[in-house]
Amino acid sequence: MSEKIELSELVHRLVEIAYPELIQSNIKIQWGRTSSFATISWSQDTKDIRIRCSNETRHWHEAALTGLLAHELSHPAQCITNQSERGTDLDAVERGFGPYLGVERLFAGKYEDHIIRRGKDRYLGYRSIRNLLNENEMTHLNALLTQLKLVPSMKTKRQNVHHDTVIIHSANRTTIQIEGHKFEIALRKEVPEVRTVVKENTTFVIVDGEEVGFFNNSND
Ligand SMILES: [Zn+2]
Repeated sequence: MSEKIELSELVHRLVEIAYPELIQSNIKIQWGRTSSFATISWSQDTKDIRIRCSNETRHWHEAALTGLLAHELSHPAQCITNQSERGTDLDAVERGFGPYLGVERLFAGKYEDHIIRRGKDRYLGYRSIRNLLNENEMTHLNALLTQLKLVPSMKTKRQNVHHDTVIIHSANRTTIQIEGHKFEIALRKEVPEVRTVVKENTTFVIVDGEEVGFFNNSND
């Protein structure tokens, strides 16, 4: 119970501090089962936003959750239909969340950039994010690492979890984006349940129990 309250407090605090575009949005957030660390969905007007954080992230430190949620909020806040993960990361850094995003990437097992869509897009890794920080932000990041007793290591085990899933409801269809790959389905009013199943080098995308497509993992 208390965890749920903390999550929604955290997300509203972030909106107040740095996401004026979303101040009118009705944002609901909860923990749950998802195939990625977080799933975010919104309708085109960003009036209703839903975020689900995977149960795995319940154990994350608040600093890492802050980084994750900043990235998620940057998706709808950019108000563009062509969402790139790199652009979303840069948006979160520009809004001042660089140190938290850096910490989050260590929790997510991304020391180096995570290349997706055969190099057309990427999630910034800890090292790239660090390079984007100004002096104050660097001091802040170092203080967070000390506080969390985190030692950044290139050997950080890459986690086999997708970073996040983006679901956009537009006028006549719902678009689902995972690791930069897009899948269009008939318009859903509710948030569809998106699961992924990995078989050898292929990830199958399953929406509400129905396979809607797949992508190859060999390029990352
Ligand atoms: Zn994302």
